[in-house]
Amino acid sequence: MKIYTSSAATIYLIGSGGMGLSHPCDSHVYVIESAGECAMIDAGSGVKPERLYERMLEDGIDPLTIKTIILTHSHWDHSRGAAWAKRLTGARLAVHQLGVKTMQDIRWPTSHLEKHGIQSEAAHVECPLQDNDVIQLGRISLKVIHTPGHSDDSICLHTDIDGKSILFGGDTCFAEGGHGTVNAETNFRAYRDSVKRLDAIKIDVLLPGHKHFVLSRAFSHISLLERKLSGSWTDVVQTRVPFFPTWWLEHDSSLYDDAQPEVRS
Ligand SMILES: [Zn+2]
Repeated sequence: MKIYTSSAATIYLIGSGGMGLSHPCDSHVYVIESAGECAMIDAGSGVKPERLYERMLEDGIDPLTIKTIILTHSHWDHSRGAAWAKRLTGARLAVHQLGVKTMQDIRWPTSHLEKHGIQSEAAHVECPLQDNDVIQLGRISLKVIHTPGHSDDSICLHTDIDGKSILFGGDTCFAEGGHGTVNAETNFRAYRDSVKRLDAIKIDVLLPGHKHFVLSRAFSHISLLERKLSGSWTDVVQTRVPFFPTWWLEHDSSLYDDAQPEVRS
């Protein structure tokens, strides 16, 4: 499903459990194409991965043009499909260096699938990533931003396409100020600092790992999460704001900058 296009690049959503594009276990799976070269962002759960292939064919994507598979982190719903995707495409696999061991050795022994007796394959990582690495793709570049919090190995990918600031957010930030799963192990200070860093970029387009994407003014959604993580713990517990978040509108005066009707002479 084509979700963003410009003269420099096109972005497709080829997998999503939440949106019903592929198996319910899947995170969102994106393909970004520029000058005939593609990268896959996340690889889904690996359950019924042929559904991702069907979506590729519907969108006219040749799997052999996918040169890099980049994982936003090594949680199984995003990454267990990497072994399948590597076989299909012949692409190199990239994940933050803290996620390499999970992909190659650990392989999600505590996942729902393993509990049901479904084994997982190792996937060799050719490109261990670090903060500020840059991945070239056709006419654009994807910058790696290490965003520990939801997981130690979480990254976001930032790119500018024709003047639009675009972020693949993984499970670090969702629309409407949503955040990824947290538990007693979560490093909330690291999470807060990661989101502060994203908030400073002024993102236009947010393409997260789950739930809906945001095609304009995404900075307001990220700012909302920054305020929640910088506030009291009760702010963090609230994971979602109403669909029409009136208190958010009250707090972002920039929303009214272009609210006046155009005057035509
Ligand atoms: Zn996750």
